[in-house]
This record gives sequence, structure tokens and C-alpha cells, in this order.
Amino acid sequence: MARSIYFFGAGQADGDAQQKDLLGGKGAGLAEMTRLGIPVPPGFTVTTEVCNAYYAAGKVLPAGVEDEIKAAIGRLESLLDARFGSPEAPLLVSVRSGARASMPGMMDTILNLGMNDEIAAGLARRTGSERFALDAYRRFILTYSDIVLGVARDRFEEALGRARRDAAARLGVDATRLNSAELERKVPDSLLDPASLAALIQRQKEIVVGATGSPFPDDPRAQLGGAIRAVFDSWNNHRAQVYRKMHDIPEAWGTACNIQAMVFGNLGDDSGTGVAFTRDPSTGERRFYGEWLPNAQGEDVVAGVRTPHPLSRSGSGGGATSGGGATSDGADDASSLEARMPEAYAQLVAVQARLEQHFRDMQDLEFTIQRGELFLLQCRTGKRTGRAAVRIAVEMAREGLISQREAILRVDPGAIDQLLHPSIDEGAPKRLLARGLPASPGAATGQVVFSADEAERRAGQGKAVILVRSETSPEDIHGMKAARGVLTARGGMTSHAAVVARGMGKSCVAGCSAISVSQGQMAVTIYDDHGHATGSITVKAGDLITLDGGTGRVYLGAVPTVPAALSGEFAELMGWADAVRRLRVRSNADTPHDARTARNFGAEGIGLCRTEHMFFDEERIQAVREMILADGEAGRRRALAKLLPFQRGDFLGVFREMAGLPVTIRLLDPPLHEFLPQDEAQLEQLSQAVEISAKELRRKSQELAEYNPMLGHRGCRLAITSPEIYEMQARAILEAACEVAAAGIEVEPEIMIPLSMTRRELAITRALVERVAEQVFAEKGRRVDVRFGTMIELPRAAIMAGELAEEAEFFSFGTNDLTQTTLGISRDDAGRFLGAYVEAGIFAKDPFQSLDVPGVGALVELARDRGRAARPGLKLGICGEHGGDPSSIAFFERAGLDYVSCSPFRVPVARLAAAQAALTAESARGPRATD
Ligand code: PEP
Ligand code: MG
Repeated sequence: MARSIYFFGAGQADGDAQQKDLLGGKGAGLAEMTRLGIPVPPGFTVTTEVCNAYYAAGKVLPAGVEDEIKAAIGRLESLLDARFGSPEAPLLVSVRSGARASMPGMMDTILNLGMNDEIAAGLARRTGSERFALDAYRRFILTYSDIVLGVARDRFEEALGRARRDAAARLGVDATRLNSAELERKVPDSLLDPASLAALIQRQKEIVVGATGSPFPDDPRAQLGGAIRAVFDSWNNHRAQVYRKMHDIPEAWGTACNIQAMVFGNLGDDSGTGVAFTRDPSTGERRFYGEWLPNAQGEDVVAGVRTPHPLSRSGSGGGATSGGGATSDGADDASSLEARMPEAYAQLVAVQARLEQHFRDMQDLEFTIQRGELFLLQCRTGKRTGRAAVRIAVEMAREGLISQREAILRVDPGAIDQLLHPSIDEGAPKRLLARGLPASPGAATGQVVFSADEAERRAGQGKAVILVRSETSPEDIHGMKAARGVLTARGGMTSHAAVVARGMGKSCVAGCSAISVSQGQMAVTIYDDHGHATGSITVKAGDLITLDGGTGRVYLGAVPTVPAALSGEFAELMGWADAVRRLRVRSNADTPHDARTARNFGAEGIGLCRTEHMFFDEERIQAVREMILADGEAGRRRALAKLLPFQRGDFLGVFREMAGLPVTIRLLDPPLHEFLPQDEAQLEQLSQAVEISAKELRRKSQELAEYNPMLGHRGCRLAITSPEIYEMQARAILEAACEVAAAGIEVEPEIMIPLSMTRRELAITRALVERVAEQVFAEKGRRVDVRFGTMIELPRAAIMAGELAEEAEFFSFGTNDLTQTTLGISRDDAGRFLGAYVEAGIFAKDPFQSLDVPGVGALVELARDRGRAARPGLKLGICGEHGGDPSSIAFFERAGLDYVSCSPFRVPVARLAAAQAALTAESARGPRATD
């Protein structure tokens, strides 16, 4: 291992901003700020490599590290003219974690380390404030005991309460009826006098002895060793593990540990501490934004006990040098840092502007003012909302701070989802019920209903409803349409509920295993942060719940939301993205309404129009069922003739919306059994309508039922046994195409065959389509160009792509089915166990969400090569759910596909992801000649 420790101080640093991997974000930021001559208390960073070596050796610090730490402490001592462990000139340090990616609040921090009774007395002499020294000491004992010695913080609560009551008595405050929070407000830490603090420290030490059997460690060097180990240990605490999983942060990164000389914001009214952002992290507005507390230490600002004050006076000018924190009124003006310490404020404003210019991104800062002197304790790229990310990127490009290309790469495509759907008001109070999969983003509040019919009925009365089901099936489509959001207990990210809800742009939480739905109510098991069940609650029909489809959270009651706003910056960024991307972006849309939404979001065609969704409408389902139940071809044709005008009408609407753009229509795919009623009441109804006895109907239904419908009689297999279905659909498409063409509207129909695996299947269906086309063209007296193609959804189709391409003019990869058939994992049952696969690291991500590149991706590349070899210029698209997933899109760019197709609300996400993929691929190839 190379060096273990990187020192920073007095304008010089061993590390720099480029070394985030080794020094963590905090360590790299401290080193860089030191190099820039910004006032930073000196210190040193123990590297992430040491953390990894510590774990590899079974939680033992590697040989030599302790000596290096000793030497670094020596450097600190001579720099500051103080001594670690000396009561005369005490050097106290903070020990803080800091990983490569920011993990706010997930790991541990210890302040004021290096104290014992003598040193506390020395500190009191040196600072002239006994109260300050004892307060720092008791805080240190509390945090150290909690984090390093494992004596939980709440065991000290009672002692602190007693100290507050003693102080209250001395101050003449009646504290007898106050609870602990009220007491803390009435007697804040700043009112604890030296006598109360000394008694409290004594009591804290007794608690430590009682809990651990040993006295609190008095030796500062032992304290330091314990704290460094505890910081490394905190890399693997439960919170950090959960956070890493949520944000795809690899365990192998490890955390660095920063040891830094303490500066004190609690040395009186000329001291203070705060946090600041160089731009507003919520809206992205260019204004210096932040909060501070006078006479306080860092943890006080985040703990929320005292309400922090804004940094700036309200309304003082515009631009980056103005602004404040919380809403400002006259009182805030007077308590702002700008009003209270104008010199330190001015210095801070200059520093933040310089840091933003230097790092060329919005920075998140921590600062402390010790007796009027400003110190920066942290500087890192600030976290921001999707909205802020877009605005900051666009404005920084306009300001010339970054290029347009950098602006495109700066915005996480996943985060712009937030801009397209109403979202939960994060500041609003709320009660979390359960968590499921974030299946379709957006916030939705409504009354719980348990059936699609009930959803429709209540929505018809003007009520907002949330449809709650164990899982949904195509029969629920009307209920899903009527509902504001959908919650299911089972199913994964490509379950019916998830796919359909995303298509509709509707909020959906799927696979929420904490709920079970039965007999008109929903039982919810409540779990704590460690996954232990702590209770349960029953939610009945009519109760209000709120879904956050972007996070998978389910709340009890109505939680306020904020509407989507497509700001000017968003449109501008999209324009820049469109100019650099190569992949076209189409949309999966089944209705004229969806087609319009998709086009408004910038779709360049329809990549998948699933015709079966058109079959479920109330007026049509009857004819569909007649067709399925008919005994012979003649009966089927009669029923299909009833469907023809409906289908033609749908296609007319879609073609009109997509004038001038390609529209790929997939012929019928699902097994026919899906269209038959599932419950007895509906069966009776149908029996009367079609004049077939209920018994006979039941028999027919059983006859059609399959053990494994996903691998059964579906896709183009339907056309092999009943060609008249595809004939009707082809006719409807072509008649509609001729009709819009006659109206002078440009139309580009593409007919797509699902689930093919042999050339012969395509030859048969192609001949069928061509025959119908010739008939229609003759009848209409005009021809339209129509392309014939197929989906690639089966491994055999990918392998035989050379032969298939001889019949097909285009391929569209149906990666939902291709994933299902390649992995042999049912997409509808995957939700039950895939989570465990991801947890165990077998898959990095759910392969139905993010393409399995080595497996399914290899089949895509094979089909591409064989298909294009047989038919140069073969058009290749993808229309599975992966078409809207940024990391899958990066693969489709590399694989050289022509387009991706995704649900309408993901079109902007895909446009941005495609642009990023193009830029990344370009930089991997090296600079262009013109750059
Ligand atoms: C697919 O399989 O990827 C696809 C788009 O078709 P569906 O989801 O309708 O099966
Ligand atoms: Mg499919």
C-alpha cells in the first residue's frame, strides 16, 4: 500500500480534488481548499485504502498506520503551536468519515476529541471560558460513548434532563411540568452553567462505567485510535448499507477518515457555525443560500433543536451574492450572518464564489466562525433536486462556466422524472405506511378501492382513487385508467401494473410485500429500519393513502404535492441533448391520447402500439369474447367484422397524432384466455349475452387455460391457428393509413409480428399482410408504404436473426420477453425473489429494469450482426421497458441500434440518456477532428 495519510495545512496539501477515490469527497475538498489558500483548519486524511485494508485484515489497522498518524499529529502540533494531550496548550481534533460519494448523515463524526479532566481545565484557562470547555467536554463524552463505546445516546438523556432542571432551578424557571423537548427549548445548552456541566460530566462517566465496566478512556491517543476505528466501522453500519444500496455505491469503495484541528463556533456571540450552498439546491436559483447559528457547534445546525437563521439579509440585491436561507422577515434580517458579522459574511461570500468558479459546480459548504475568524470545514459538490440540476446546468453553461456538453452530462436522467410528474412536498408532515418498488413515478393521493369497477364508479363520482390489488391483470385496465395511482402487493418492475401505469404516466408502487389484500381491506405490516415487523394497521376501502411512485413509498392520508413544471431551462437542455444524440427516441403508445403526450415530450415516432389494449374497452370486449368463443372460422370472422371499425378508428387517431412519423403497430400478442372473464358474476353476464350456457362457457374457458401462458398460445402463434385475427388487424391498419393519406397526412405504418422464432412464421404472416394490403389498396385506389418487421423476443429469434431478416425489414427487441425467455424467469413472478438476487449480488440490478448486458445484451448483438449481414441497413429498435432505462440506453448506443422506444413520460429521460450515451461513446473514441 502507498502512503496511508495525506496532510493538509498552511496552504499546502499532499492531496488534491482529483483524489476523491483515495481521500473521499471531504478529504479531497479539504486538500483542494487548502491549496487554494482558503482558511481551513489543518489536518490529515487516512485513505480509503486503509479502510479497505482494515476490513481485509479482520478489522485491524495495517502495520505502520499508527506511526504515520503519530507523525501527522506531530506536524499538526508544530503548525498550531499546541499539543495533543497537553493541558497547557491543548490540541483538540474532529474525526469524520468521508466516502467518495457523499452519504449525508450515514456515517459517524466525533468532535472535540483529545480531552480529559486536566485538558478540559486547560482549555478553560486558555479560552477564558469554563462553561465552553465543560460543554465541549460533555458533548465529546456523549458522542464518543455512543459511537465508539456503544453506550447509546438515550442512556444519557436522563442525566442531561437533570442538568437542565438544576439549571432551570438556578434560573428561576419552573420546569416541573415540561417534557424533555420543552425543557430543552427553555433551557438550551447555552444556559447550562459550569456547575451543572461539571455534575453532568461526572454522571456521564458513571453511566459509561456502569454500561461498559471500564472508565471512560482518558488518554487522547487511545481516544483517537478508537475514533478512527469507529469511523471505519460505520462504513458498514445498517444505515450506510441501505444508503449504498439505494444509490448504487459499491461496498468496495470504503470511507476515508479525516482528522482535523478543531475550531469552535461556540466560543461566544462572535462565533458561530453554518452550512451553505452556492446556489439554491431545491430550485437551482443562482443565489447564495444557507443557514447558521451563533454560538454553536456543527451538530446544532442539523439537529434541528434551535432554528437556524438565514445567512443573508432578505431582498439585498440579486445574483450569486445575495439571498438567504429560510424565509426571511424583519427578525431574520437582524439575525442573519450578514447583519451580525458583516466582515465574516463578506469573506464567506467571496470564498463561496471562488469555490464555485474553481470547481465549476454548485458547492455545499460547512463553515465555522471562531471569534470572528472564518474557517471552511467542508466543500463538496452539492446534492440537488432534479429541477435544480437542470436549472444549474443550463445557467452555468449560459454563464460560460461549463460547456453545453458538460451541462448535458451533469443532469442525471433519472432525476428529471421529478420534473414530469407532480411530486410529494418533501417538507410536509407525513406518516409512512410501507415501501414497495418505485414502479412509475409521481405522487398520487386518493381513496383506497379494491376493484377496477369500484375505481371506475367512484372516479365517475369525481373522487380521486388509488386502486389497490394483489396484482393487476389486463381486466383491470379501466380501473387503472380511472385511478390516480396503483398499488400492488405482488409483481416486479415489468409486472402488468408497472408497465401499464408507466404507459399511462400514472403513479404506481408495485410488489409492496408489506401489504396483503383480502376481503375488501388491506392489512399493512409496519417494519422498522432494521426490517423487523413492529405492528400492523388495517386500511379499508375509502381510507385515504398517498403513493410516491418515484421512491416506492406509501403514506397514510393525503400528503400535499407540488405540480410538474416544465421550465424554460428544461426545454433548452433537451434541445442541446437532441443536437448531440444519435439514437432516435420513440414511444410505446396505444391510444391517440398517449401518442399526443409522447409527441409533446418529443417522441420521434411510435415504437410499439400494443393493439390488445384496444380490445379491453367496454364496447369491444364483447366482440372479442364472441370471437374467442366462436366455434368455427365463420363465427370468428363475424365477430372480427364488428371489431374492425373500432380498430380502424383507433389507428386513424394514432396516425393523425403522429403525422409524418413512423408508427409501429404490433399485431395481437397475448393468449386469448386473458380476454375471458375471471369471476362468476361476469361469466353469468357473458353467458346471457352470447347465449351460451354458463357451464359451456366454463368448459371453454378451462379449455383455453394454460399452465404457462407466457410460453403458450400467444404472439404470432395465434395467427398460425387463426389467421383471420391478423387479417382483420392488417386491414384496419391499412384502411386507416389510406384514409389519412387521402386527407393529405403523411403516414408511415410499420406492421410488427410478436414472438416469432422461425423464418416460416414470418413468411406466412408476411404473405397474409401483403395479400390484405393489395386488397385494401385496390379497394381504396391508392397505395401507402408499409414496412413489415418482427419483434425479437426469443433466444431462437436472436440466433436465427439472419433468416428472420430475409423476411423482416426491421427488428424491434422486446427485451421484456427476451429477458424472461433468456433467463427463464417469469416476468410476472420475478418480483417475489429477484430482490433477494439483487441483495445477494447475483444481479447488480433487476434485469427486467436494467438490461442484463452480458447475457441478453449478447443476444441483441448477435441478432444485430446476423440480421444486418443478411439485410444491410436493417432497422433496429428496442421497445421493452429497458428503452427508458439510462444505463440500458448506454448499451443500446454502443450496440448501434437505431432507436429506443419507451413510455411517453420517459421520452425526455431517454432523450437525455441517449445524448449522454453519445457523448460518452464519443469521448471513448477520442476527440473529434473538429474539436
Ligand atoms: C417485450 O416483450 O419487451 C414487449 C415490448 O412486449 P410485451 O411487454 O407487450 O410483452
Ligand atoms: Mg413481449
